[in-house]
Amino acid sequence: MKILLMTAHPDDADIMAGGTVARWVDEGHDVHAVIFTRGDKGHDDPAMTPERVGALREAEQRAAATILGVPALTFLDFTDGDLSWAGAPLAEAATRLIRQARPDTIVTHDPYAGAPGYRVPQLHPDHRAVGAAVVDACYFRAPGPLYHPEHGLEGLAPHRVRELLLIMSDHADHVVDIASTFERKVRAVRAHASQFGKHPDLEGFLRGLAGRAGGASGVPLAEAFKRLTPS
Ligand SMILES: [Zn+2]
Repeated sequence: MKILLMTAHPDDADIMAGGTVARWVDEGHDVHAVIFTRGDKGHDDPAMTPERVGALREAEQRAAATILGVPALTFLDFTDGDLSWAGAPLAEAATRLIRQARPDTIVTHDPYAGAPGYRVPQLHPDHRAVGAAVVDACYFRAPGPLYHPEHGLEGLAPHRVRELLLIMSDHADHVVDIASTFERKVRAVRAHASQFGKHPDLEGFLRGLAGRAGGASGVPLAEAFKRLTPS
C-alpha cells in the first residue's frame, strides 16, 4: 500500500498519526510525508527569525522521520500561517503531489472541524486550509483530467485516491491500535524539541491522547481518524 501524509507543519502527523505511521512502516508499506511549511512561526522567542525557526524545525522533523522509519520526507515552501490565503498555488500543489505519488491512502487534516455540529473547533487556519485543499484535490482535482491539464504535458496522469484518513477530527470513526509503536511515537514527538522540550510530562500527555482516541473502542493506546472513501 502507498500512503501519502499531507500536513501543514512539522509535528502535526507525528502527534496525531505517528504510531499508525510506524505500524505502516513495520508492515512494509510505502510511506511518503509531505509538509507544506517548515513551521517557521512556531517559536516564542522574539529574537529568533522565521528562517532560523524553519531550519530548526526541518531538522527536528527529519530526526522524527528517522525514528519512525519514514524514508521519504518533502517540505514545500509555503509560509507558516499564510496557507488560508494560498489559494490556487495550494490547490495546484496538492493536486500535483497526488498525481506524482499516486497513493492508495492519504492522511491529512480534517477541514470541517469547527463547522456547526462539531464539538472541538479547529483553530489553526493552516490545518483547515491544507485539509480543504487536499480533500478537494482527492475528490475532484486529482482525478479530473480537465483540472490542471498542464500536468499532462509533464507526464502526470489523473489519479483517484481510495481512502482518506483525517487527523484532528472529532468525528473520528477509524481507530488504530498503536500499542506496538507507542514508545517510538513518543521518541519521535520528543525530537520536536523546539515545541515540546519544556513539556513537563510529554509521555503522559501522549498516553492521555492515545487513551482518549481508543476509549470508546476499548483500545488502551490508539490513534483515531475520520475515514472517507472518495471512489
Ligand atoms: Zn500544525
